[in-house]
Amino acid sequence: MSWSSPGGPGHTRGDGSVAAHAPAKVNVSLAVGPLREDGFHDLQTVYLAVSLLDTVTVRPGEGLSVTVTGEGAGGPDPVPTDRRNLVWRAAELLAEHAGVAADAAIAVDKAIPAAAGLAGGSADAAAALVALDALWGTRATRGDLTALAAQLGSDVPFSLAGGVALGSGRGERLTPVLARRPSHWVLGIAEGGLSTPAVYAELDRLRAQGRVPDGAAFPSPEPVVAALRSGPVDALAAALTNDLQAPAVSLRPALRRALRGAVDAGAAAAVVSGSGPTVAALAPDEDAAVRLAAVLAGEGLFRTVRVVHGPVPGARLVG
Ligand code: ATP
Repeated sequence: MSWSSPGGPGHTRGDGSVAAHAPAKVNVSLAVGPLREDGFHDLQTVYLAVSLLDTVTVRPGEGLSVTVTGEGAGGPDPVPTDRRNLVWRAAELLAEHAGVAADAAIAVDKAIPAAAGLAGGSADAAAALVALDALWGTRATRGDLTALAAQLGSDVPFSLAGGVALGSGRGERLTPVLARRPSHWVLGIAEGGLSTPAVYAELDRLRAQGRVPDGAAFPSPEPVVAALRSGPVDALAAALTNDLQAPAVSLRPALRRALRGAVDAGAAAAVVSGSGPTVAALAPDEDAAVRLAAVLAGEGLFRTVRVVHGPVPGARLVG
């Protein structure tokens, strides 16, 4: 397939900047295989891109600089603004690929909470690839950007692709799924994040003790895919699964009450998103999502709540 990036001068604003959005993801199902010898786990997941978007704005600069505003800026454990930020690494990788100097001032405006199981850092990296491709005029193909995305992290290719996709390998091998039926969710966002490696380590520990299934066989993702395509919301509710939920709850016991609270408040079902601690509560419909969010906001189970829908597109230029 030939694809030319939607970048170029048409997307450069009067002040010389280029901006891109990228979405958060929810793992509608997430099965985790046993620990591999290389320390990683094979996954089988159904990703859904939802309407909570970070914005990455890039401008000409000398060398690289990163600023972060919004979720995760400041506080005791701020999102880094140096080369530990995934957008910095995305910029270096794209510059190297394109043979251009890595010169840009990158401003990340975060609506996606950090370390929340929503792939916020991956979204920023995908948005940075798209915006910098346009700023630098690299004319990278979609395949090029996807390959760079896979080097940056296992969720980054999906942040680029958006929609619904089946992920395998470490999550970076994607098969797009045609499922345009919208679903409506309330994201219950906790105070403080959870470290993804710590949640995997807890899963390994629980498995070693025989307290959760060993993950040796992946269930078929077909019921989840069918429910996302055309099923009633109850079918989707019944299909939600996440092998990382038990370890996330083990590390953060308050999650158990939060999951139950979401269902008691009217969610069709609730599941921990990725490695948590965000709770993704599936609402019967759009109006119900707004009502559910109001109830959950009043109960104090979460730091904040967001009403979202999916699927939405992946990283793309704004304007
Ligand atoms: P996962 O993709 O593993 O589900 P997550 O959504 O739980 O990750 P992220 O928000 O991507 O978590 O952040 C995980 C860690 O990555 C943060 O604690 C932070 O130190 C680091 N990080 C690097 N770049 C970014 C970024 N642009 N936004 C947020 N975190 C970042």
